[in-house]
Amino acid sequence: MSKKNEIIVIGDYTATQLEKLSEEFQTIFVNKTDDLRSLSAASRKNIKGVAFKGHRPLEFDAASFDLLPELRIISNFGVGYDGIDIQEASRRGIKITNTPDVLNDDVADVAIGMLIALSRNFLNGVDWIKSGAWGKSGEMPLNRTVSGKKAGIVGLGRIGCAIAHRLSGFKMNIHYYSRSEKSSVKDWKFHSDPISLAEEVDFLFIALVGGQETSQFVSKEVIQALGADGILINISRGSTVDEEALLDALETKHIRGAALDVFTGEPSINPRFLELDNVFMQPHQGSGTIETREAMAKLQRANLSRFFANESLITPIN
Ligand code: NAP
Repeated sequence: MSKKNEIIVIGDYTATQLEKLSEEFQTIFVNKTDDLRSLSAASRKNIKGVAFKGHRPLEFDAASFDLLPELRIISNFGVGYDGIDIQEASRRGIKITNTPDVLNDDVADVAIGMLIALSRNFLNGVDWIKSGAWGKSGEMPLNRTVSGKKAGIVGLGRIGCAIAHRLSGFKMNIHYYSRSEKSSVKDWKFHSDPISLAEEVDFLFIALVGGQETSQFVSKEVIQALGADGILINISRGSTVDEEALLDALETKHIRGAALDVFTGEPSINPRFLELDNVFMQPHQGSGTIETREAMAKLQRANLSRFFANESLITPIN
């Protein structure tokens, strides 16, 4: 039997994912990049490939690369690669791959589900039954229509498009902000400025890439422009939104609500969120289904295999 290629696996994987990685590669596991230090220099010195899973901004940085002098590929688990210092990796000739497309549907489903859950107050509905309020007080308070409203997408990429297609099925007019107009989506209205987009729509979906370039792209001005009836939905990264401005707007009811799957500094989130009743929150579970995580893991492994076979990478990002 041919000798397996050796890789380091970094992150929080399921037992099945680890098993499958070990079937194909000779593996060393650590939880996070900081733990690379705990490995002996001898075990690190010839490592060419890493399977990485992590969301902490720039967790995989120059100091981590220094610990792996022969590193040539980081196969990232996830489409978002803001956990890796791409510029520094490119400078060192380290290839990065990600797992795009296979997760679009699940993430878009969560975006739509969160909007409906917030606008129709599903959490209150459950409480209304469990607390006995239904029997004592009758109908729960009325909530607000979702279908037929105007929707805006900030960042009309793969996931943004999947969200927009779903919203069309809810009889919504679609508006979007991108850095340039998309010729492929003639029925959707382009805005060159996110503030004008926010002014125009009822629901503003954020589907930008994360990272320094889009840090707080959804600024106080964009949030304020949404207005008192507006709802912001973020499935991208906490970093893309000015969270302090969002919290202020939610507390003062300057906007109607927010539905959030991602937060700055997650998993520890700003405690001000916990006091609000106009927020629907999820613990970054956009791609968190058995089917999609399997597909992501498969693509991660396939990119590593291709690298070791000297074949072209399937989903390179640099
Ligand atoms: P994508 O296809 O690359 O789309 C990203 C969008 O970001 C594009 O519309 C792009 O705009 C925009 N963008 C990139 N750089 C920008 C900049 N400097 N300024 C303004 N806009 C910029 O990515 P995707 O596959 O849809 O994924 C989007 C993000 O979703 C990921 O990066 C990840 O952070 C997040 N995500 C979250 C979950 C979750 O579980 N919640 C799961 C998967 C992904 P242009 O159209 O102008 O190029």
